Amino acid sequence: MSSLNLKIDKEIAQLEFDQPDSKVNVLNTQTMRELVNIISELKVKSQSRQVKALIITSKKDVFIAGADIKEIEGITSKNEAIEKAQIGKEILNSLHDLDIITLAAINGACLGGGLELALACKYRVATFSAQVKLGLPEVNLGIIPGFGGTQRLPRLIGLMRGLNMILAGQIISGKDALKIGLVDRLFPESRLMEESVLFVRDILDGRIKPKRIEKKRLFQAFLEDTPFGRAILFNQAKSNVLKRTKGFYPAPLKAIEVIRRTYGRNIATGFRIESEIFGELAVTEVSKNLIKVFYLNEEFKKLPWVAGQTTPRKVNKCGVVGAGIMGGGIAQLIAYNDIPVRLKDINYDALKKALNTASGLFESAVEKKRLKSSDAERKICLISPTITYKGFGNADIIIEAVAEDINIKRRVFKELEEMSSPNAVFASNTSSLPIMEMAETLRSPERVIGLHFFNPVHKMPLVEIIKSQKTSGETIVKTIAFARSIGKLVIVVKDVPGFLINRILFAYLNEAGFLIEGGMRYERVDDIARTFGMPMGPVELMDEVGIDVGYKVAKILESRYGRRMQTSSLLEKAGHAGLLGKKAKKGFYIHRGKKKIPNPDIYKLIESRHYKTMSDEIALKRMLYSMINEAARCLEEGVADRPHTIDIGMIMGTGFPPFRAGLLRYADTIGSKDIVKDLKNFEQESGHERFRPCDYLLKMVERNEGFYNQEVAQ
Ligand code: NAD
Repeated sequence: MSSLNLKIDKEIAQLEFDQPDSKVNVLNTQTMRELVNIISELKVKSQSRQVKALIITSKKDVFIAGADIKEIEGITSKNEAIEKAQIGKEILNSLHDLDIITLAAINGACLGGGLELALACKYRVATFSAQVKLGLPEVNLGIIPGFGGTQRLPRLIGLMRGLNMILAGQIISGKDALKIGLVDRLFPESRLMEESVLFVRDILDGRIKPKRIEKKRLFQAFLEDTPFGRAILFNQAKSNVLKRTKGFYPAPLKAIEVIRRTYGRNIATGFRIESEIFGELAVTEVSKNLIKVFYLNEEFKKLPWVAGQTTPRKVNKCGVVGAGIMGGGIAQLIAYNDIPVRLKDINYDALKKALNTASGLFESAVEKKRLKSSDAERKICLISPTITYKGFGNADIIIEAVAEDINIKRRVFKELEEMSSPNAVFASNTSSLPIMEMAETLRSPERVIGLHFFNPVHKMPLVEIIKSQKTSGETIVKTIAFARSIGKLVIVVKDVPGFLINRILFAYLNEAGFLIEGGMRYERVDDIARTFGMPMGPVELMDEVGIDVGYKVAKILESRYGRRMQTSSLLEKAGHAGLLGKKAKKGFYIHRGKKKIPNPDIYKLIESRHYKTMSDEIALKRMLYSMINEAARCLEEGVADRPHTIDIGMIMGTGFPPFRAGLLRYADTIGSKDIVKDLKNFEQESGHERFRPCDYLLKMVERNEGFYNQEVAQ
């Protein structure tokens, strides 16, 4: 079945992209072949003046979402990639060279190859719909645009704007695209075709003059059009990219290289260089890994669902109990998503602080132009603080975020059961306590569920949903739907102490503690983790979480799992010394605004320093393999259903580097045999059982398997 349908009506051809049996349109080998035939047909008809204009349109909400990622993933050699990019460019060039008016009528996502196709048209129009999104997000897959995007976009919208869009993979709305000249007109969605035809007629009849090149402001002209200005621009772009990516992601740096070498030069040379660099990047491990993460992300945006459950109705009102770091953050996020939320604490100061923090976040969204100030003012009013349960009676979902203490949490749930609606879901944001222990004393334990947000709530994309033995299917789907409605990615895990992510993460944080107790400087431990690609070191992370909170969770895990989760004594000592982390401005680091400097007092807490020399490699292995061992245990116990859940959870919940495709994908590159060998050595050297490889790992070695079963470990 064909994806492209051509109609010709009074000299105007309309080409509709509509891939059958798919919600989206993508450019793949088949659609490109069809496009070649259609362009040839149009070329003939244009020469006989049967056709004077072409309008390219699409199914609703997706113009063209990009090139087919499966085909990019399947590329195995640099030459194959170069050839694919060159063929694609030749086809789009033949569209560009048609001697007729060409116009892309954009009615939805117009990304990657889709935007490159639109850029090969002489005009672009779009609708006012929020579904209209334009961008070249290729760098997010570890590649650069390959169908001419690095050449045509900067030439159309200017070097500075073009660089900004390409290097960050920025996606913009139709309105912003109009402002920067990426589209020529915006029309109401219902009149896109009629208005596009009128627009084309006006061009044909000479009522719309050819576009004038907008005169650049003096400073912009200096930066873009003089060798000295360009050097400043490219150096600045490079330093911004390095700051953001720490050099782990080659694609944006290569995009700068391509544009630097080609901007203002012959476009054919530019195309050739673009294909060459696209070819280099398409076969890198980073690109292949980022594609895996892309698939995981797409899959988990839809999954998991509970069989037999229908879509629940929208949540109209929420309650949050506890206005600390987490409760305050959760209330802000709920209000941001236009849901009224009642926020209760026992302490006025906590409420005041939570409202101040929330209003700071709204202000910052306004500053970053993500929100209009009128919307920010309206949204902040959706949070209503209270020290009683007044107003909780009609909440659809109530989230508890009080201190990490089972007795306090049980008491809160008992109180909630008395005064809330019988249909309300009770969710706990506990970091480590089993949900069943909170639910078991209630009349309706099926309504209780874990909804574990990560800190900071507005930034971290993941929530862990924890179902107890008694949680009903209805409660699970309501909670999943709610979490998605406030923009979170969901994983569903089993009810064990620490659940999935904290159990794995604490193995790593704890190991960092043991390394420091053993004489390693904590700044170095942080450096080692960052050099591997973690967004921050384990010690910095402890400061963010709060050393008291971390210690409490670590102790709960130790009490539940025994000696293999024995807490490093460093946390306890730091907590006792009042070094609570960022919130107290002093922890392992002294926090001054955005700056942090190492706190020398920490070293006074370490009594028995062996000053044993240890390589960075061994220190890193101890931290990473502790996580891998714990993750394997989680699979063994069914806490996570499969490795994919762990990988997406660690990337989205802890910032595990996406270019490594996930903790367990990374483990597979090492191989279970080597991991087990090292763990056994660590156990022998330290005499501590925390390194003992779990049965799951041992079985993997026996069977010569990787975590991703089919792919046998090397
Ligand atoms: P916090 O100490 O900052 O805040 C707890 C708040 O609860 C305080 O303001 C306190 O006054 C209030 N409170 C105590 N008893 C109450 C009651 N009966 N009714 C109403 N309010 C009450 O703690 P936090 O860091 O926000 O953690 C809250 C929960 O979230 C804990 O279970 C914690 O384990 C979990 N959690 C924390 C993090 C983190 O990084 N801090 C991350 C994920 C989950």
